[in-house]
Amino acid sequence: MTLIDNNILTCPNCTKCVQTLEILSYHIFESVLFSDGKADTTPIIPNISRILICPECNKEFWKDDAEQTVDTKIDTYNIRSVLSPSDLFAVRNSEDLLGQARYYYKLLKENFANNNEKEIYLRMLLWHELNDIVRYNIPVKVTILDERELLLRDNLLHLIKIFNPSYEEEKLLLAEMYRELGEFDFAQTILEAIREQDFIGKRNELFRACNSKSVRVFKLKN
Ligand SMILES: [Zn+2]
Repeated sequence: MTLIDNNILTCPNCTKCVQTLEILSYHIFESVLFSDGKADTTPIIPNISRILICPECNKEFWKDDAEQTVDTKIDTYNIRSVLSPSDLFAVRNSEDLLGQARYYYKLLKENFANNNEKEIYLRMLLWHELNDIVRYNIPVKVTILDERELLLRDNLLHLIKIFNPSYEEEKLLLAEMYRELGEFDFAQTILEAIREQDFIGKRNELFRACNSKSVRVFKLKN
């Protein structure tokens, strides 16, 4: 069962009230996991973006930075709903495959993510977005692939500098970042240190991908 609740937030940019839907619980029937940590689920997980766009001033803000209105008597009828970045790019065409990635990149350049934790979150979104272009094996123009490659490289080099894994699952992600950069030795050194039984299957799959010098994101079997 999916439980949804309405939340009233104050936009930190223009101080107007906006509303957002909160997903309290939902049930996932099926999940396909990829080497970069992205999971495609059935049904699709409702949007839980931490980056929101104010419908009043059209500026982005972090959900964590927005104050929540606790007044339960507030009339929500005239309060407009926030958007998330994926709403802006909901309709895709082959010319605009990089639209959302360029948007995330612009936010990074504007220092929208003003601490390491936020920057890691935003760079992870950008990483998954760039990988989506090749993830589903659809035909893509060479010019788009070239630009994707440049953005991916730049993003992963920055991400590696600030991503400090503490759990085995995060170590798998770090190894994957190095693998996608073609740094197979670094990736394998990290993978060799993974010992937890739950992650051995995934570790071996990434290890094999390094052996075959593959840099492409792939669907995990384990
Ligand atoms: Zn606003």
